[in-house]
Amino acid sequence: MGPEAGVKPRKVSLFIGGKWVDAADGRSFDQVSPATGDVIGIVADASPDDARLAIDAANRAKRSLADLTVLERSELCARIADSILAAQDRLAPELSLEQGKPLKEASDEIRFAASLFRDAAETISNLETSFMPTVNRDKRVFTLRQPHGVVAVLTPWNYPVGIPSEYLSAALASGNVVIWKPAPSTSMIAARLVECLLQSGVPEGAVNLLYGGAGPGQEIVANPGTQAVGFTGSTATGTLIAQHAGAKPLLLELGGNGPTIILDDANLESAVVGTAIGCFTNAGQICQSSERILVTEKVHDQVLDGLVSSASRVRLGHPLQTGTTMGPLNNQGVAAKMDGHLQDAIERGAKVIFGGQRAKGLPTDLYYQPSVVDQVSRDSLINRQETFGPIAPLIVVRDVDDAIAVANSCGLGLCASVYTTDINAAFRCAERLECGVVNVNESAAYWDGRTPFGGWSGKGSGVGRLGGIETVRFMTQLKSVVLDVRYPDER
Ligand code: NAP
Repeated sequence: MGPEAGVKPRKVSLFIGGKWVDAADGRSFDQVSPATGDVIGIVADASPDDARLAIDAANRAKRSLADLTVLERSELCARIADSILAAQDRLAPELSLEQGKPLKEASDEIRFAASLFRDAAETISNLETSFMPTVNRDKRVFTLRQPHGVVAVLTPWNYPVGIPSEYLSAALASGNVVIWKPAPSTSMIAARLVECLLQSGVPEGAVNLLYGGAGPGQEIVANPGTQAVGFTGSTATGTLIAQHAGAKPLLLELGGNGPTIILDDANLESAVVGTAIGCFTNAGQICQSSERILVTEKVHDQVLDGLVSSASRVRLGHPLQTGTTMGPLNNQGVAAKMDGHLQDAIERGAKVIFGGQRAKGLPTDLYYQPSVVDQVSRDSLINRQETFGPIAPLIVVRDVDDAIAVANSCGLGLCASVYTTDINAAFRCAERLECGVVNVNESAAYWDGRTPFGGWSGKGSGVGRLGGIETVRFMTQLKSVVLDVRYPDER
């Protein structure tokens, strides 16, 4: 397939109370493709007033899914999975053009989204609660899992179909209704996902969709008309959301700065392959990217050579062009952060071995060269903050304990990976790294959607766990029922 040219911008409306509508004040914003620089959509720009209309609509529909049987909700999620898969060929190029990722990665993401709805269908139909032993022979105690009611869902632009599907699948399966605000730069594909939900029979008002910035986002987080909040995005925004949500149940999936540790005894071939996947997939815009590569002196040269060779094989280009393996970054903010982190690393003594700047001669300046940077110092921004771009930065460590110390010195703690053939070192890393997921002899970017995923307590990477049954647990609340079983004449 070749790049599309001269596509007429698509009008994209809000979805409130079962209807596609303009913003109340008539405002809209242009959606510009990072791949072409063309305006591809005119998107309704929601205000807090629109958010309040969505909250009212969601509250009117609050019982619509809760009143279905669990099996009816399970069947609904299975139909949504089918509907997403059926739309894959249409959705994948649209996702590529709007987000920037190559077509193959876009197709993978859409299939992943479908699998999440399929998993939620299965999880909810197998959800058990407990019948508990009691201290009193006349009492019986059991628990119910019930929906929260109206859940606010706010999602980022890096996996704009996959990440929302984590929340939406579990929320709907559990009997909640949803108000969803995607990141503005991936609004159009959000509308497509909602179309799939509607084709599958989601009740009117049970899913509401708003586009725009912090205004409507803050309203759906803070307004008492929503009862729980699920947010994936940056640490800075997540911190604000926690303040605005107050005492509501909150799931926060925030930024990472995941180390990939490669020890003396690692299988270097697989370590390099896995690390390159972690650095360059989705142009490095993954919360679980290999953000820092911690290598011992002994393996340093071979890892560096391997990563340079991997970077040189990356085909940077239009995401719909056959053969492209890396597209543009999604937006200027993330590209500027790459610029800043590279500049800072160089000023602190790092050497750019491959790439290191925005590519020339492509339709926008968001295309970034895959970059390999050596001799990155421990005080550099790259080691302290999330970069979120196509960068492989090497930091030399003495041994496993030094690697763990460098890894844990960062204020973020989401994911890590370690390559070693020593079971003791593997366990030491798995147990001592301060993060929610440790992949051993596997790319940092590996995640199967059912594995519990989230940030380490006290780090800036989030609160709670997402993934499989954990997301369903978050989307429900536990109610205990105490029953006195005596006949009236026994009381
Ligand atoms: P972001 O800037 O935090 O934005 C996320 C969403 O929140 C957007 O829709 C944004 O809208 C909205 N928002 C901004 N301010 C808000 C406010 N005060 N109240 C309510 N909503 C508000 O994050 P991003 O740049 O889209 O995504 C990249 C980040 O997500 C990275 O840090 C990455 O690590 C993280 N991430 C984490 C995970 C994980 O599972 N832990 C997964 C993927 C991504 P505007 O764009 O209009 O500001």
